[in-house]
Amino acid sequence: MELIRNFSIIAHVDHGKSTLADRLLEYTGSVSRRELKDQMLDTLEIERERGITIKLQAVKMFYRAEDGNTYTLHLIDTPGHVDFSYEVSRALAACEGAILLVDATQGIEAQTVANFWKAVEQDLVILPVINKIDLPSADPERVKKQIEDILGLPSEDVLLISAKEGIGIKQVLEAIVKRIPPPKGNAQAPLKALIFDSYYDPYRGAVAFVRVFDGEVKPGMRIRLFSTGKEFEVTEVGAQTPKMTKFEKLSAGEVGYIAASIKDVRDIKIGDTITDAKNPASSPVPGFRPAKPMVYAGIYPSEGYTYEELRDALEKYSINDAAIQYEPETSPALGLGFRVGFLGLLHMEIVQERLEREYGVSIITTAPSVVYRVRLKNGEIKEIRNPSELPENWGYIDAIEEPFVLITIITPKDYVGNIMSLCQEKRGIQKKFVYLDPNTVMLEYEMPLSEVIMDFHDKIKGVSKGYASYDYEFLGFREEDLVKLNVFINNEPVDALSFIVHRDKAYRRARQLVEKLKEVIPRQLFEVKVQAGIGNKIIASERIPPLRANVTAKCYGGDITRKKKLLEKQKEGKKRLKQFGKVELPQEAFLTVLKVE
Ligand code: GDP
Ligand code: MG
Repeated sequence: MELIRNFSIIAHVDHGKSTLADRLLEYTGSVSRRELKDQMLDTLEIERERGITIKLQAVKMFYRAEDGNTYTLHLIDTPGHVDFSYEVSRALAACEGAILLVDATQGIEAQTVANFWKAVEQDLVILPVINKIDLPSADPERVKKQIEDILGLPSEDVLLISAKEGIGIKQVLEAIVKRIPPPKGNAQAPLKALIFDSYYDPYRGAVAFVRVFDGEVKPGMRIRLFSTGKEFEVTEVGAQTPKMTKFEKLSAGEVGYIAASIKDVRDIKIGDTITDAKNPASSPVPGFRPAKPMVYAGIYPSEGYTYEELRDALEKYSINDAAIQYEPETSPALGLGFRVGFLGLLHMEIVQERLEREYGVSIITTAPSVVYRVRLKNGEIKEIRNPSELPENWGYIDAIEEPFVLITIITPKDYVGNIMSLCQEKRGIQKKFVYLDPNTVMLEYEMPLSEVIMDFHDKIKGVSKGYASYDYEFLGFREEDLVKLNVFINNEPVDALSFIVHRDKAYRRARQLVEKLKEVIPRQLFEVKVQAGIGNKIIASERIPPLRANVTAKCYGGDITRKKKLLEKQKEGKKRLKQFGKVELPQEAFLTVLKVE
C-alpha cells in the first residue's frame, strides 16, 4: 500500500482536466501517442460533443518516480457539473489527494471554489496546479495570488503547467507521489468497498467502480450491498488501464471495478458500500444517501410514436443511468407518458438527447418543474412533482414550500451590478459580497431552485458576456406565497402547460406566456384562443387568427417533386407536434414557460 496513490483532478469546466489526464496517461506509458485519442476519459459520444464528463471512471497507471520506486496511481475522474455534485463528493471520498487545476487565463471560478471545499471536507491533500501557461493571456502570478488569498494554499506549492504542450507533467507526477499520502486500510479486515460509479456493460452486466478500504475482493466471492442487503457472486474484478483489464483481486487501498452478473444498474447505488456476505463489515463507509431527483418533467411520445416505444426506450436507457427515475403518468392533453425525475437541467438535456439519438424515439418534453411540498390542513405533507397535481381546493392547503439553493457566483467586478439585479429579479437573498482580488467579486445568494432552472444560466451568461460562473447547493424547503397558473386553449385547460409561480410574478408571467404561445403555436384553419389564469380566474388572454389558405394548395397541379418535398418536410415537423383537440401544439409550446421572466 505504501506505493499506491489515489487522486482526482478537480477544476472548473474547460480548465483542462481531460487534457491533463491524457498527458498523465501518455507520460506514464499507459497509452502510446498513437493510441491516445484526445480526451481519452470522456467516452460517450455525447460527452465528447459537449466537452463535459458525465461518468466518472478510474484509471490505473504505473509511474517510476525519481526515488526509484514504481508507484501505482489511480486517477479517479469526477464529473464537474453542479447536477452531479453528490457524485463528485463520493468520488473524492475514494481518494487521498486532489489536483486542483486552475486556468491561468481565467483564474478561480465558481466550480473551482465549490470543488475545493468538497475536497477539504474529505480531508484531501490538495495540489494546486495552474494550467495553460503557454497562452499569451496567461497571468499565473494573479492566479497564484488568488489561490493564496481565496483558498489559503501557499503560493510556493503551486505548480505551473501546460497540459496541452506537455510542460510540467513530470513535476505533477512527482508531487503526487511525494505530497499525497498512501492509502490506509486493513487487508485482513472484512471487505469494505465504496461504490463511486457504475455503468452497464453488455457482457459483464452492471459494473461497480469501487475504492477498497478494507479486506479484498476476488471472483467467486459472495458480496452484499449495505443499503439493500442484496447479494451477488463476483464474476470478475479489474481496473481500467485504461482498457478494462482483469485482475486476480482488489485489495485494501486499491481502486477498480467489480462485476457480479448484476442485471440492473440501479442495484449499484453511488455512495453505497460493498461487503463480504459471509463475513460482513460492521459498518458501511459513511455518507451514503440515495440520489434524489430535484427536477421533474413529463416525457411523452411525439405524434407517430407509441407509449410502448417510449417505455422500452426508457427501460433500456435507465439500465445505464442509475440517477434517472420515472413512473407512468397520464395527461389529459398529451395522453400516456412518463413523469421523469432528473438531478438537474443538464441531466435532463442529456437524457432527452440520448433517448432520441440512441434509442430512436421522438419525444415531447414538458417544462421542467422542481419538487414542491404542500402542507395540508390535516397535517399531511404531499410532494408535488407535477404542477397539475396541485390541489385546486385551497381550503385544504396550509402552505406550499419550494426548494431553495445557495448559489455562489464569481464574476469580474464590471458585471456585479447586472448580476445583482438579475438575482434580485430571481427572488434571491444576498448573503455574501467579497472581493477575491481587485477585479473579481464573489457573491452568494439564497434563491428558489425553480428560478435557477428557468433561464438563470442564459441570463447570467448574457449579463456578464459569459464571464460569470456559478455553482449551487441544495439548502432545504421554504414556505413561499405560490399559486398555480393554468393555461387554456379554446377554453380547455392544458394540464401540461400549467405551472407554479410566486404570486407577485403571476400576472407578468401569465401575460408573457400567452404572448409567447401566440408566437409559437402555428395558425390553424380556425381561431385559437390562448388564456392563462389562477385557478379558473383568467388573467391574460390572446387570440391566434385563423389561417386562410392551405399550405399545399399552391402546389396542386404543379411540380410533383416540390409537393413531395413539402409533404415530407411536414411529416418531419409532425414528429415533434402533439395534437390537442383540434389544435396542433409544437414541442416549443411546452417549453415557453421557461422563456418568460
Ligand atoms: P475540461 O473541461 O476541464 O476537461 O477541459 P479540457 O481538457 O476539455 O480542455 C478545455 C480546452 O482547453 C480544450 O480546448 C483544450 O485543448 C484546452 N486546453 C487544455 N489545456 C491546455 C493548455 O495547457 N494550453 C492551452 N492553450 N489549451 C489547453
Ligand atoms: Mg473534460
